[in-house]
Amino acid sequence: MSETRFIPFALPDIGEEEIAAVVNTLRSGWVTTGPSTLEFEKKFASYIGGGVDAIAVNSATAGLHLALEACGIKEGDEVIVPTLTFTATAEVVRYLGADPIFVDCDLNTLCLDISQIESKITKKTKAIIPVHIGGLPCDMEAILTIAKKHNLRVIEDAAHTCPSKINNVMIGQHDSDAIVYSFYANKTITTGEGGMIVSKNPEIIKRCKVMRLHGISRDAFDRFTSKTPAWYYEIIAPGFKYNLSDIASSIGICQLAKADKFQLIRQKIAQRYLSELTDLPLILPPNIKNSATDLHSWHLFCCQLNTDKISRNDFIQIMSDKGIGTSVHYIPLHMQPYWKERYSLEDVHFLNATKYYKNAVSIPLYTKMTDDDQAYVIHTIKEILS
Ligand SMILES: *Cc1c(COP(=O)(O)O)cnc(C)c1O
Repeated sequence: MSETRFIPFALPDIGEEEIAAVVNTLRSGWVTTGPSTLEFEKKFASYIGGGVDAIAVNSATAGLHLALEACGIKEGDEVIVPTLTFTATAEVVRYLGADPIFVDCDLNTLCLDISQIESKITKKTKAIIPVHIGGLPCDMEAILTIAKKHNLRVIEDAAHTCPSKINNVMIGQHDSDAIVYSFYANKTITTGEGGMIVSKNPEIIKRCKVMRLHGISRDAFDRFTSKTPAWYYEIIAPGFKYNLSDIASSIGICQLAKADKFQLIRQKIAQRYLSELTDLPLILPPNIKNSATDLHSWHLFCCQLNTDKISRNDFIQIMSDKGIGTSVHYIPLHMQPYWKERYSLEDVHFLNATKYYKNAVSIPLYTKMTDDDQAYVIHTIKEILS
């Protein structure tokens, strides 16, 4: 095992199919949102199943923004979000002038602590944004029950869950108002940059579609293909520019076709870590409760060091010296200057996330990782920790 090798933290898995699809799109004369995007949306909706519709967007951040807007979130409203997530989950709430209300994580799932949600609800609370951390599905039944009781909207940040399943239900199929996926470069499937909004609610789909493209009541492809004059359109709101290009969608169609295969590879890699990284001062990531009914996308493999002998930062440095990329998911939002200062957030109110963060390290997990690559990662971790 040579120490000059480099094992990245993550790597997109792009094949010749994706490359050919992009070339075809470039040659077709239609590069912006058009036939490939429509096809990607249709295929994504049927992949999720349960009668959902899908709207492609140029990022999950854009998708979350559109979904909140479609739910009527506005200035003065409060939206419950986990502190342990990427900043996009909370920043979209600010886009609309509303305020995120942060909830600590549950160390058994790393997702938001559902038992703390009700204590955060006020007269101003309008929505909850659960995040399925690393691809481990949140207990959506429990979250939706609370939401229904308090008349709250639910927008799932499903950036990590293509695909995840709980109690035999695909994430994306629950009765949430919207479920938003990310196709960022390091996610389970990628379009370079991109995202998808999924919903069973036709009003949400309609609003997201209009607001995705300047508040125009017809999109460019519709104008190009329908019988009404192409030059005519109506602006019904000051919308955004969040559409996904056909170039990106053509990649997405190929990636989606491999999503199940990718999940199996990720699951196999995760299982090997789970079985070989035992008897070490290392807390392994939470897993699904029932492999017959639940599915973990294994977007991330989030560990925690459990030793006084080496700090997390030193561990990351040694891994890097040995040519292994790692990361931290996430620096909790309550510790980030903007969020901390704006909402006077203190570590003592988020004990679990604070504790988790101190020792958190995510190790490489990507579909192109070879058995040999993984053996080297495992060997190196054992060497450092034992
Ligand atoms: C990646 C990610 C996002 C943002 O996705 P983009 O497509 O890059 O906008 C949002 N939330 C979570 C939890 C993410 O990991």
